[in-house]
Amino acid sequence: MHGKVWLVGAGPGDPELLTLKAVKALKQADIVMIDDLVNPAVLEHSPQARVIPVGKRGGCRSTPQEFIHRLMLRYARQGKCVVRLKGGDPCIFGRGSEEADWLSAHGISVEMVNGITAGLAGATNCGIPLTLRGVARGVTLVTAHTQDDSSLNWQALAQGGTTLVVYMGVAKLPEIRESLLAGGMRDDMPVAMIENASLPQQRECRSTLAAMQQDAADFQLKSPAILVIGEVAAEQAQALLAKSA
Ligand code: SAH
Repeated sequence: MHGKVWLVGAGPGDPELLTLKAVKALKQADIVMIDDLVNPAVLEHSPQARVIPVGKRGGCRSTPQEFIHRLMLRYARQGKCVVRLKGGDPCIFGRGSEEADWLSAHGISVEMVNGITAGLAGATNCGIPLTLRGVARGVTLVTAHTQDDSSLNWQALAQGGTTLVVYMGVAKLPEIRESLLAGGMRDDMPVAMIENASLPQQRECRSTLAAMQQDAADFQLKSPAILVIGEVAAEQAQALLAKSA
């Protein structure tokens, strides 16, 4: 009897942003393997499960990906229901598809559950609509962090006219700024830097492309944070701001 692995997005931090499907998976779980960007408060839905932290934050002690794969496989082969809980959405800079492919190739059934990605929640909680009629006709999610040092086409991003949402960018602010300026983006393009999106300790710093590096330093911006770069980053629509029910 083989078990099953659910690859579940836990959302950006606010436990109320979990999906009903994520809660259903958590209720059935025997094992929950949890990343360190996941708010542990969501574990209230799985008091029965054994929880295994498998965090891997940049720069810190991390659990090798291979080990995580093997652990999921071992429990699934024991017939257990495994929930692999990831921050935000599993397939947005989350290696969800790599894990799903690997498990499927080893004969394990996998189900993916979307989560609300940090960029969406962060923007909305600061009153920023990522698309806006007549202002931003699209949104591009990018990461500034690469393992192979491959480079993004910054010129296309700078001139594409879509809102940019940059993940894992805090340590790369100088490069992002330089690349977008060199790519032809206006130096007064609005930028919003949003730390701990959707959590009570959320902070936001509004700036411009030219000033973002200095402003982030003055603000002591820390990871996890997303950057929203584009005309909409000057918006502060009161109606969007997070309210609790
Ligand atoms: N799968 C996740 C992203 C993982 S990559 C998602 O869909 O959200 C990790 C990066 O996500 C962090 O470096 C940061 O840029 C962003 N991030 C995750 N949680 C965040 C939060 N609560 N607030 C701001 N940024 C966050």
